[in-house]
Amino acid sequence: MKLHLNQLATLFYTSRHHGHTLAFQSRFLLARDWETKGSRLQRLSTMAPSSTPSTPTRIGVSLDTHTTAYQPRYIDIGINLADPIFRGRYHGKQRHPDDLKSVIRRAQEVGCTKLIVTGSSFKSSRDALKLADEFPGTVYTTAGIHPCSSSIFSVTHKRHHEEDEDHTEEEQHTPACGADPDKPIPDGLSVSEEKTTKIIKDLEALVKSSPPTSLVAFGEFGLDYDRLHYCPREIQLHSFAAQLQLAASLKPQLPLFLHSRAAHADFVRLLKEAFGPRLERLEKGGVVHSFTGTVEEMRELMSLGLYIGINGCSFKTAENCAVVKEIELDRLMVETDGPWCEVRPSHEGWKYLLPAKPAALEVGSVSDPSVTPSHGPDSTKQGGKRQGKKNQKKEPEVADRFKVVKKEKWEEGAMIKGRNEPCTIERVAKIVAGIKGVSVQEVCEAAWANTVKVFGLES
Ligand SMILES: [Zn+2]
Repeated sequence: MKLHLNQLATLFYTSRHHGHTLAFQSRFLLARDWETKGSRLQRLSTMAPSSTPSTPTRIGVSLDTHTTAYQPRYIDIGINLADPIFRGRYHGKQRHPDDLKSVIRRAQEVGCTKLIVTGSSFKSSRDALKLADEFPGTVYTTAGIHPCSSSIFSVTHKRHHEEDEDHTEEEQHTPACGADPDKPIPDGLSVSEEKTTKIIKDLEALVKSSPPTSLVAFGEFGLDYDRLHYCPREIQLHSFAAQLQLAASLKPQLPLFLHSRAAHADFVRLLKEAFGPRLERLEKGGVVHSFTGTVEEMRELMSLGLYIGINGCSFKTAENCAVVKEIELDRLMVETDGPWCEVRPSHEGWKYLLPAKPAALEVGSVSDPSVTPSHGPDSTKQGGKRQGKKNQKKEPEVADRFKVVKKEKWEEGAMIKGRNEPCTIERVAKIVAGIKGVSVQEVCEAAWANTVKVFGLES
């Protein structure tokens, strides 16, 4: 198997150390994409004592041979990496240094070697394409208009979409995945055919001018009736239909990256209108990401040949988890939807992250794993030896792999509390495996194969 520059290579060897045989598992990353010019081998090592039997020193650089333990691999199919929050900007204010490279490095370190960055507006789609240029072979992108960004199709929208470079940073934020019922539903918006023609023409030009090696899907687009305060239903329906028409007309078509929230009947109806009653004219398939619908809705989507994207929002309730249990492995994709949709202790799915000890289940709940005292990046990797700090009040229920700090206390190498990022995808896979009663390996390999197939990525 060929080893690509930014793929993880796994090197196993054994070594005698102070009379004990230890197995060290080291991961090497070729850090070409984010370090200095040229290919520089960067060593990211995890060293953990293992029970691997002593064998003659053996060095095998391979992804699929000579391994004694499975190395998970992930593709985050939905990550909003173009959001300014990953540059340290929150609501228009620079709160800490740009740490995008660290975010990508942490993803690589857990085995999340490919990121499909969501384009949900003209600006985020263009920014995502710039990221794909910067991180070739790691970052891929989508391009489309999210239902919550679809008020640009309305007569009264204050600016033309081409001017969204001038939007405030707050407006550029990708919408969070939760509903926001406190906000009023805007009224008086009506569809502008003139704007629609221009938007669709510009979107078509954007898609057609983007390198196919970077732009791997059309979207994010769809319907979101949970958040009508961003854009009313009528405009959302118009935006979705107009973009579906464009997606169907592309030669060749692109796979679809779809969003459907509390809008299943209209969502499926419009898909069928564009691609036929069995979606028989949909050439490359598609994924309905961040799925939170019912089991019947999920089955209907699978019967239409669509894939289901799962993230932290898909584990909130027992009903959500019952739906995840029914997803066929050959229809599953995983994602984080960062900076949103992290798995929280209040989520039903959280329990699948806990150690499999009956006692652990009785521990009182902790409001948020990132609120608990965090550990240095190495502490959990070294068998948790450093976790027993004297003044530490409470052990976290689920150890953080990387240190977590508040944004005000930013430090190099640490994650930011409340800012979900792609390295947490391992939690998503672990919960899916727990719910379905299968191994993490089965989940990872199925999701990897489905994603590579649909989006045409190099494996
Ligand atoms: Zn979405």
